[in-house]
Parts: sequence; C-alpha cells; structure tokens
Amino acid sequence: MVLEVVKYGHPVLRKKGAKIEKLTPEIRNLISDMLETMRAAHGVGLAAQQVGHALQLTVLDVSPVTDRPSTLERDGKPAEVNEFMPLVLINPEIKPYGEMQSGPEGCLSFPEIFSDISRPSDVEVKAMNENGEIVEFKAGGLLSRAVQHEVDHLNGILFIDRMSRAAKEEVQVDILELQAKTKAALKI
Ligand code: ZN
Repeated sequence: MVLEVVKYGHPVLRKKGAKIEKLTPEIRNLISDMLETMRAAHGVGLAAQQVGHALQLTVLDVSPVTDRPSTLERDGKPAEVNEFMPLVLINPEIKPYGEMQSGPEGCLSFPEIFSDISRPSDVEVKAMNENGEIVEFKAGGLLSRAVQHEVDHLNGILFIDRMSRAAKEEVQVDILELQAKTKAALKI
C-alpha cells in the first residue's frame, strides 16, 4: 500500500525513532508499504518518520539513479551496489568518515526544495535487515549521502538543519510556506 508522505511542519518529523525490538507482522507490513511508497514517489530513501512512525527504520534504493555513482564495500571487498538494493535498515548505527563533500539533496517531505549539503564522503553502517540479520557495510558516493540523510531522519534531524546559512536563506521562503501549509492542514 502506498502511504502518505508527511511534509515539513508535521511534528513526527522531529521525533527520534524508537528502537525496534521485534520484527512483528505490523513492522513487516510497514517495511513493505515503505518500499512501495518510496518507489511510487521516485525517492532513493524513506524513513519511518516520513510515513508517520517514529521508529528506527529506513528503506533505501539508489539503483534507479544512473548519473550519481555509489560505492559499496562488504567484508572488506568492493561489492555490486545494485545487487544490494533495496536496503532495509533497522536500528542502524553509522560512522560517517572521510572528507566533507558538498552535493545536491532533496527530501520527499520537502517537495521541490533542493540544496547542496556538505557531508562526510563515506559511511560505515551496522544495522538489522528485514530478515532480522545483522548487516555491515561501507558506502560512498550517493549511497553514503542517502544513508546519512535517512539516519538523520531517524533522529529527528532534517536536511535543512545541515544547510549552510546562505543555502538556507535561498529556500527560507519556500520552507516557511510549506510549514504553514502543513500546520494549517493539521490544524496545529
Ligand atoms: Zn528526507
């Protein structure tokens, strides 16, 4: 089922996700719905907060993107990115590393707002997958950026928090408009 993606101004986007203790049928359903929702929205990642659940759960799939490369390392060896997609990360722990790199980002909760964001180039990830197995990998390029963006969501952090002051000024009007529209619809 395709779920509604909540927009900026919805309080759930600022909530830290609770740890998932068990892969219940409800969680399995949510994972399946989130994958469907991400594909329908043509996103490369979606966090549980974006569909109204403050949980440590995110899904990613960079395979449809052909113009922004990703790298993947598993067991210390380079691995095929697309074979590893889609990715379901439950209770992820990440260690970003490498040089800061600036790159364009958007977010399904901020339609039509794009900005360059600076993040470490690479990331080390440890998480549980949809089968309850522990997965560990290192990612670079777009996949690294997407993982860092999604894990931020799980902690209530949004990409606008990571914009430079100049970049944020450029989109400030759009951000405030979006926030007001969301709050008006929610009557908050
Ligand atoms: Zn986002």
